[in-house]
Amino acid sequence: MSAPTRTDVLVLGGGAIGTATAFFLRLMHERSVTLLERELVGRQASGTNFGGVRRQGRTPQQMPIAHLALRTWSRVRELLGEDLEFRPYGHLRVCYSQERADVMAEYARDIRHAGLELTLLTPRQLKRHVGIFSDKVVMGSLSPEDGHANPRIAAPAFARAARRLGVELHEHTEVAHIERDGSGFLATCIDGRQWRSEQLVVCCGAWSSRLSEQFGEPAPLEFRAPSMAVTEPLPYRSGPMIAVNSGLIDEVMYFRQIERGNIVIGGGRRAEVDLDNARAHVNPDNILRQFRELQRLVPAFARVQLIRVWSGVESYLPDNKPVMGASARVDGLYYAFGFCGEGFAISPGVGEVMADLIARGRSDIDLSPYDIARFATAT
Ligand SMILES: Cc1cc2nc3c(=O)[nH]c(=O)nc-3n(C[C@H](O)[C@H](O)[C@H](O)COP(=O)(O)OP(=O)(O)OC[C@H]3O[C@@H](n4cnc5c(N)ncnc54)[C@H](O)[C@@H]3O)c2cc1C
Repeated sequence: MSAPTRTDVLVLGGGAIGTATAFFLRLMHERSVTLLERELVGRQASGTNFGGVRRQGRTPQQMPIAHLALRTWSRVRELLGEDLEFRPYGHLRVCYSQERADVMAEYARDIRHAGLELTLLTPRQLKRHVGIFSDKVVMGSLSPEDGHANPRIAAPAFARAARRLGVELHEHTEVAHIERDGSGFLATCIDGRQWRSEQLVVCCGAWSSRLSEQFGEPAPLEFRAPSMAVTEPLPYRSGPMIAVNSGLIDEVMYFRQIERGNIVIGGGRRAEVDLDNARAHVNPDNILRQFRELQRLVPAFARVQLIRVWSGVESYLPDNKPVMGASARVDGLYYAFGFCGEGFAISPGVGEVMADLIARGRSDIDLSPYDIARFATAT
C-alpha cells in the first residue's frame, strides 16, 4: 500500500457545506486543503433541493449565519466567477387564517431584533404587488432581500472555485474509516487509499454520524425525503418565492418560478429514504396534494401540467438544529451536518464560519447552540 497523502485540512463530503468550507479555507487562510467526495460533488441534497435562499422563518439564533450567507449569495458571481442563478426577488409567506396571521405578525416583530425587516401586506396590497392569489389569503409577510438560486449548479461551482484556489478534490472517493494518528488523523477509503491530515472536517450530510460515531460522537439523525415537483414552462414573470404558512402540514406548499418559466413546487409530507443506497423516495400523494394547494392559492394555474417529480436525502435532528463546530472529544476534529431541510441557503455562511473556526480556532458567530456535545447522553 502506498504512503498516505498529506494535507493540512481534510474535508469529507462534497455537498454545499463541504465545498463552501473548502473554498473559504483557501480563500481566507493559508492551509492546504483536500476534499473527498464519495460520488460527484453536489449529487445529494445540495443538488436536489428546492433552491430557497430565505432568512424569513429562521430562528433568531440562526439569523447571524443567514445574514452572512446572504452577503455571499449577493456577490457570488464576483466571488466564484459563475452565475448560480441567485435572484434576490424576495420571500413571501401568505396564510389563510387570522390565527396564522397573528403568528406571522408576532414573528415579524420579534425577528426585527435579529436584523430581519419584514413587510406585512394586506390582501389588497398583495393583489396590487403580486396579483395572482385567490381571495382566501388573509395576510402576507415579505422578506424583500431573500431569494432563490439553482441548487444543481451551486456546489459544483464552489468546488471549481475551490480547486482554482488550490484545493485538491477527489470524487468517487468514499471514506470508510477515520482514526487518530499521532496529533492528526488518518482517513482510509473503501479502495484502500489513505490521507493523513492535521485537521479533519466531517460534512457528509445524512451519512455524517457513520463517521462521527467512530470517535464516540453519534448524532441521532433522522432521514427524510422532501418531495419536489416542477411544471411545464409558463410565461416568465419574475417574482418572490412564495410559501403558504400554516400549522396544518397538508396546507404547507411553496413555489418559485425559474427564468426558463417552470414553476418548482415543494412542501408538505416527506417520504422515506434508503440511506444505504443513497436514494430518496417521492410521496405521490403529497405531490398531488402540493399541486392542489398550488391551484388553491393561484387559481390561474388550474390547467398547468406537472412534468417531473424528484426528491433528495436530508437529515434532521430532534431539536431541529444542525451540528456545527468542534468535536467535544477530539482536538482538530470538526463537524457540520444535519441541516434539517434548511442548509442550502446558509451553506456559504456555514462554510465561512467553519473555515474561521478551523484556521483561527474561533468564529465571530456563536456556534455553541450547535455543539455535538448536546447529544452526548446518547453515546
Ligand atoms: C428535496 C430537498 C429540498 C430542500 N430544499 C431546501 C431549500 O429550499 N432551502 C434550503 O436552505 N435547504 C433545502 N434543503 C436542505 C439542503 O439541501 C441541505 O440541508 C443541504 O444541501 C445539506 O448540504 P450538505 O453538504 O450537508 O449535505 P449533502 O448535500 O448531502 O452532501 C453530503 C455529501 O457527502 C458525501 N458523503 C457521504 N458519505 C461520505 C463518505 N463516507 N466519504 C466521502 N463523501 C461522503 C455525499 O455523497 C454527499 O455528496 C432541501 C433538501 C432536500 C433534500
